[in-house]
Amino acid sequence: MDRKSVISPPVITPSEVPAGAFMLAGGLAARGIEAPIHDLSLGFFRWLFLEHAPKAGFANCVPSLEYLISPGTEFYDPHKHRSVCGVLQSVLKSYKKKFPGWQLSLMDSVPPGIAHSTEELITLAKSGSTPFSEYFKLWLKRSRGTFDHGLISLAYLSQLPAAVEIAWLLEESGIRVTVGGSLASALKDTGSGIELLKSCFREIAMDDGRSLTGEDQPFLSKVEWPVFADRWKYFSSRPVIPFPLTTGCIWNKCLFCPDRDKPYMDVSIRNLKRILEGGPHNPVIHLIDSAIPVKAVEEMLPLFREKTSGFYGFARPQGEWLKSGLLKRMADSGCLMLQTGVESGSSGILQRFMKGFSPDTAEKVVTEISASGMRNYVYLLFGLPGETEKDRELTLGLVRRLKGKIDYMNLSVFNLPEKCELTDRAAEFGIMPGEYDSDAPVLRFYRPFQSVDGSDPRKEAREFIRDVFRSDPAVIPVLQSTPKWFRAGHMALMKKAPLL
Ligand code: SF4
Repeated sequence: MDRKSVISPPVITPSEVPAGAFMLAGGLAARGIEAPIHDLSLGFFRWLFLEHAPKAGFANCVPSLEYLISPGTEFYDPHKHRSVCGVLQSVLKSYKKKFPGWQLSLMDSVPPGIAHSTEELITLAKSGSTPFSEYFKLWLKRSRGTFDHGLISLAYLSQLPAAVEIAWLLEESGIRVTVGGSLASALKDTGSGIELLKSCFREIAMDDGRSLTGEDQPFLSKVEWPVFADRWKYFSSRPVIPFPLTTGCIWNKCLFCPDRDKPYMDVSIRNLKRILEGGPHNPVIHLIDSAIPVKAVEEMLPLFREKTSGFYGFARPQGEWLKSGLLKRMADSGCLMLQTGVESGSSGILQRFMKGFSPDTAEKVVTEISASGMRNYVYLLFGLPGETEKDRELTLGLVRRLKGKIDYMNLSVFNLPEKCELTDRAAEFGIMPGEYDSDAPVLRFYRPFQSVDGSDPRKEAREFIRDVFRSDPAVIPVLQSTPKWFRAGHMALMKKAPLL
C-alpha cells in the first residue's frame, strides 16, 4: 500500500492553508491521487490555545481565538485584534518557558544552540522534549494507520526543527517519509545547503511534485481542491486560498534576487476555477506570485468578482498598474490590498539594482491604490551596497509625501543572498562577500559582506531606521497600525483606518 498524506510542520502562521502543501495535495488530487493535508501548524496552535491554555489558566484564550475566526463584523477592529493577539502571545510566552532556549511565536520557531545546525536539530528531534513533542505524540496516535507515505512540505526555516522531529517519529513508526518544497529547492542553490538538509532527511524530492505522479508535465498544469485530514477552521475571519497566477517571476531582473533560476510559467485560470468549485463558499484569494502579472490579474477580475469575497497579493509598483483605470477596477472586483515592493526613494538605488521602476512611478501607484479604497502594504528595503545617507533621506521623503496613504509597512535591511547576480558581480558593486566563522554544519541563505570603501550600509541603515525613520511623524502611525502577528492575511481583512 502507498497511501500518501501531505504534512505541513509547524511553525507557519495558522491563518490560511500553507501554499506549498495545498498545491502539492491539489496537484495530486487532480491526478487522482488522494493525499490528505495534515496541517500540523494549525493543529499545534489549536492544541496549544484550545486544550493546553485553558488548563494552564488562560481563560481568555478561547474567546480570543473565537474573535479571530468570527469577529462579528465585516473587518477586524484593529484595537480588538491587537488585544486578542496579545492574549495568544502571552500563552506562547508562558508555554515556551518550559523549553529553555527555544524561541517560539505565531510565525517562528528557533531551537536553542547554533541556529539551524543540522546535528543539533537531529539530537533535539530524538530527545522528545521540544515544544512540539507532546502534540506530535497525540497526532501520531490519532492518525496511525491512515497513511504509509508522508510527504513533508517544507517552505520555511521556521518549520525545520519540527520537520526533523516529525520525520524521525514517522520513520520510527515504519512510515516512509519524503521531504520536498520550496525550502529544499532554495537550499539546492546555496552550495552546501542541500547536503546539510540531506543529513536531516533520508528522501528529498527536488522537483515540483511531478516525480510523485510519473507524469512529466509541470505539476501546476493541473490542480484541484484537495482533501484535508481535519475540517478545522483557520484563524481567519474568511477562508483564504493561496493561489499563484504564475511560477517564477515575470520581471526576473533584480540583481539581488535569489530566485531568478525558477522557470516562468502561467498557471491556467482553469485551475482556480476547479479549486473554487471544490472549496469553501466566497473565499479570499491570496495571490502568492513574487510579482502579480498585470495581464493575468486583469483576465481574472470577472472570476474574482463573481466567485470570491476578495483577493490580495504582491505587486511591483510599475507604470502598467496606472493604465486604463486598472486599480479602480481591481478594487471594484474585490481587491482588498496590494503589497508593493517600493523598496527605495532613490532612483539611483532602484536603477543600480535593476528594479525596473522609478520612485515617482511607485509614488503614483501607491497614491492610486489608496484612492481606489484598497489597503496599501509598502515594503521598504534599506542597506543595499552603496546606499548613502542621501538615499535613505530620499526614502523618508517619499514616505512623507505619501503620508496618510500607506496603511501598513514592512521595513527590511538588506541581506546578501548566497547566490544571486549581485554576489557573482560583487566587485563591480564595491563589495567583498565573506564567510561566517563557525565550522558547524549550518543552513544559511545569506553571506556577510564588506564594502571596499570601508562603509557599512547595513549598520548605517539600522541606525537610520532606529534614530530617524521610526520616529518620523509620517512613519509613526503606519508602524502603529501594522499588526505584529498574522501580518498580510489579516491586514487585508482589517478595517481600513480613515485617511489623515
Ligand atoms: S520582482 Fe522579486 S522575484 Fe522578481 S526579480 Fe525582483 S526580487 Fe526577484
